Amino acid sequence: MLIYLNGSFVAEEDAKVSVFDHGFLYGDGIFEGIRAYHGRVFKLEEHLKRLYESAKSINLTIGIAKEDMAEVVLETLRKNDLKDAYIRLVVSRGKGDLGLDPNNCSKATIICIAAQIKLFEQTMYEQGLNVKTVAIRRNNPDSLNPRIKSLNYLNNVLAKIECTQAGVIEAIMLTQDGYVAEGTADNIFIYRNNVLLTPPLSAGILEGITRNTVIQLAQTLDIEVKEMLFTRHDMYTADECFLTGTAAELIPVRNVDGREIGLGKPGAIFKQLLKEFRTLTQVNGPEIFSM
Ligand code: PMP
Repeated sequence: MLIYLNGSFVAEEDAKVSVFDHGFLYGDGIFEGIRAYHGRVFKLEEHLKRLYESAKSINLTIGIAKEDMAEVVLETLRKNDLKDAYIRLVVSRGKGDLGLDPNNCSKATIICIAAQIKLFEQTMYEQGLNVKTVAIRRNNPDSLNPRIKSLNYLNNVLAKIECTQAGVIEAIMLTQDGYVAEGTADNIFIYRNNVLLTPPLSAGILEGITRNTVIQLAQTLDIEVKEMLFTRHDMYTADECFLTGTAAELIPVRNVDGREIGLGKPGAIFKQLLKEFRTLTQVNGPEIFSM
């Protein structure tokens, strides 16, 4: 495996960063998870837009232009001869000293890793997941806005620990006010009273690329869709519930906190959206081997 590290491609064993890197010391940095399908990088522009917006928000100078970053992603795939892959872009504040002041970090560290995608088990798409709302609340946007895809994922890690200890695979996190926010690495949708609902960005969630794609697909399919706060009650009594994310795509939820959702199996709206989503993944995005 060849990894992009600060302008060069190096073998995995040589892909090393300093222990003084503030990404490591303080979680001071940002990242993206991107997917390539069938020789194309899905929604690459949208992922790079989010990366550069996260950087802006934390006052981080990436140091290379967005167009060059796109080339980094494509070249990493080419070097590893990958047409279907999961891509991880990481930009940290870079090497500094033990103090947390980012002014002492002169240059960002940039990493791009492309790996074979580990697909979720097919049974999960056929049967749906059991999930649990956890006690830990999603970061308060006034403290660390979840719209920043930061390297500080402890909030999500704590939620993951809580749900796995309870024996389920994914956690649903609530906002500080007790509304439904999102999963540990995915956004949430419910279908209720013939309307597809997903929490608004103002709730304090990541603006998922898959979420945005699903909203657009719903609109083209004439499914009414609203970005609106909803409660656990709304979720328990919904006809359908599913999660969205780059890794999982769209994945149905069959049970939340011991309550069966709808008929306890993937619903018609979910199936329709997943089908359209998978069609789109085959045609969207720049081609990896076009040059
Ligand atoms: N929420 C969180 C907290 C995430 O980490 C992710 C994964 N990036 C998502 C939602 C889904 O976003 P996307 O569809 O862009 O992968």
